[in-house]
Amino acid sequence: MVDGFGRAIGDLRLSVTDRCNLRCAYCIPDETPVFQPREELLTFEELERVTALFVAAGVSKIRLTGGEPLLRRDISELVRGIAAIEGVKDLAMTTNGIFLGGALADLRAAGLHRLNISLDTLRPERFRLLTRRSGLEKVIDAIRLARDADMGTVKVNVVPLRGFNDDEIVAFGQFAREERVVVRFIEFMPLEAGELWSRDLLVPGAEIRATLNAWQPLVPLDPTHDAETAERFRFVDGAGEIGIIAPVTRAFCGACNRARITADGKLRTCLFSLHEIDLKTPLRAGAEDRDLLELIGSAWAAKEEGHLINSKDFVRPARTMSAIGG
Ligand code: SAM
Repeated sequence: MVDGFGRAIGDLRLSVTDRCNLRCAYCIPDETPVFQPREELLTFEELERVTALFVAAGVSKIRLTGGEPLLRRDISELVRGIAAIEGVKDLAMTTNGIFLGGALADLRAAGLHRLNISLDTLRPERFRLLTRRSGLEKVIDAIRLARDADMGTVKVNVVPLRGFNDDEIVAFGQFAREERVVVRFIEFMPLEAGELWSRDLLVPGAEIRATLNAWQPLVPLDPTHDAETAERFRFVDGAGEIGIIAPVTRAFCGACNRARITADGKLRTCLFSLHEIDLKTPLRAGAEDRDLLELIGSAWAAKEEGHLINSKDFVRPARTMSAIGG
C-alpha cells in the first residue's frame, strides 16, 4: 500500500487505551481528564483483526501504546494474539514503566520484542511535579528489569522542556552510559489544542546534540532502517548510545511509513492529522475484510505530505498525545 508521495505503509501504532495513571503536564494538561467510555475502546478481538488487515497491507512493525498500555487488563493476551499474526516482525510497547514489574514476564512470554520506557527527569521532586504522581523509583527499576530481561534494547524516551528538565540532558547521557540503555531525546511537539506548547519550551535537537557533544564527543551511527526517526549517536569511547528525534526542527515526514489507530478505533495517517477515519463503526457493523482494506487503502492514499508545524497554516490537532497514542 503506497501513498500519493510514494511512501509504503510499514509501521502501525495501536493505542489500546486513552487512560493513564500519570498526568504529565505536557501530555494530559487536564488533571481530571475525561476518558473514553470503555465500550468505545476497541476490543482485543477488534485490535487483532485490524492489525491483521494492516499486516496484509504491508505493515510489519507494531507498537502498542496509549494512554498507558499496561492499564489495559490482560494486555499480554493482546500481545500473544498480535505476535501470532504472520508477518509481524517487530512488536514493541511504549510505557511509563510504573506497572511493568508485575507484567514483564508475561509480556515477554507472550511475544513482546522490545520496550520503550518514558522518563523525563531523574529527580524525584521534578518527577512528582511533572507527572503529578510519584513513582520515579519504580520507573528506574522497570528500566533495569527490562534491560536485564533478554529482550531487544530498551529505549528510554525523554522530552526536554526548556526551563524544566533541559539541565538534565547530560545526566541522561550519563544514564545511557551507566545503565546500558539507549536514551532518546524527543522534541516537544504541539499536540494539544491548549496553549501549553510554545517554541520557547522546545529544546531543539541541534542544541541537545551540542550539549552532549560538549560533554562527551558524539559519533554518528548509521540509521537502522529507511524510516528511522532518530539520529543515532554513540559516545566516542564506545560506551552508551543516544538518539535525537527532532520532528519539529528536522522533520522526517518524507520517509514516514506510520499509521496510528486511536483507542476508539480511528485511523490517523499523521500525528498532526486534522481528520480521522472511523474504522470502529464498519468493524462493528460487520464489514468484510476487503471493505475494511479498501477504507484503509483510500485513507493511506490520502496521507498528508508532511506536518505543517513550521507553517503559518498550522492548526494543532485537538487530541493530546495520550488520546492519539504516542
Ligand atoms: N503512557 C506511555 C508512556 O508514558 O510511555 C505511552 C503513551 S505516551 C503518550 C508516549 C510518549 O509520548 C511519551 O514518551 C511522552 O513523553 C510522549 N509525548 C507526549 N506528548 C508529547 C508531546 N507533546 N511532544 C513530544 N512527546 C510527547
